[in-house]
Amino acid sequence: MKAAQWDPAQQKVVVNEVPKPSPGPGQFLIRLASASLCHSDLMSMAMPHEKPITIGHEGAGYIEEIDPAAENKGFKVGEGVGFTYIVNYCDECEGCAVHNNHCLTKKSRVHGFDEPGLFAEYAAVDATSCITLPEELSPETSSPIFCGGITAFHCVDSCELQPGQWLVIIGCGGLGQLAVQYAKAMGFKVVGIDINDEILATAKSQGADSVFNSRSNPNYIEEAKDFMDRGPNKGADAVAVFSAATAAYKSAPPLVKLGGIIMVVGLPAAGVTFDALDIARGTYRVKGDSTGIPRRMKKAIDFTAKHHIKPEIETHKSLDAVNGMVERMKKGELTKRQVVQFV
Ligand SMILES: [Zn+2]
Ligand SMILES: [Zn+2]
Repeated sequence: MKAAQWDPAQQKVVVNEVPKPSPGPGQFLIRLASASLCHSDLMSMAMPHEKPITIGHEGAGYIEEIDPAAENKGFKVGEGVGFTYIVNYCDECEGCAVHNNHCLTKKSRVHGFDEPGLFAEYAAVDATSCITLPEELSPETSSPIFCGGITAFHCVDSCELQPGQWLVIIGCGGLGQLAVQYAKAMGFKVVGIDINDEILATAKSQGADSVFNSRSNPNYIEEAKDFMDRGPNKGADAVAVFSAATAAYKSAPPLVKLGGIIMVVGLPAAGVTFDALDIARGTYRVKGDSTGIPRRMKKAIDFTAKHHIKPEIETHKSLDAVNGMVERMKKGELTKRQVVQFV
């Protein structure tokens, strides 16, 4: 089968012919229908791999084969599924109750990092990581839900907001755009902040009540707070930072109301810094969320289907496109999720 692999010797993604996997104990063999590029894939490509590794951890597809130990789990051959991107976790320990990355067996592996990834015609995935796609979500377009979408949903859902309250979304690219859609569908009022007018226009068209360009408008913090007009405790009820820029994190405390929540989503390489006194006296609370664990997926998937949440995608028909997608992502040129559809 064909797979798009990061080749550490050539420092680029090449399409190689590799053996088709077979499902291990408790696994399904999946025929991929779509796979998409996520920012974290760049983290894998920056790691010291000894040999080419198939990249990608966002996928959706059809069950092609079921290992005997994965039978009678409510799935059948031919069914469309999505899945989290971790294999070989125990699903029982305290680590797996938080995120399967933390499985205390230390044996869990991540697609595209230390397990063959999903930019491939087939992949073996753990049955416990799968969810049946509702009919509204086609496997051909749903890969971006299975990291980006679920992450955006959880990060909005965990902001502890009531309908009518204000959420500021800093960074309105891929995940931020999804967050705008989820937040509006949950009944929140949304301010989008970004440095790119084209991205802000998309956020506005997806329902943001107002948008501000933090690069071209030096007064955007005051203007955003005036726009929200919350009374003397000025600022948003929650601020979710989807950007990975340190400057984006610096702008979060002045935008959040006293006692509000700052949601950590974007991952600056240098980490994030908050004022200890602010945290100690509750000026704001800092939280984080991510894809979470398989048993949390259903709420996100049901909500996505019910409210017709759709990521902005650009589709490609061949794995040959992956290297170009990666190059454009590295240059910061992408405004839409890049999806390979397998035909
Ligand atoms: Zn991801
Ligand atoms: Zn575990």
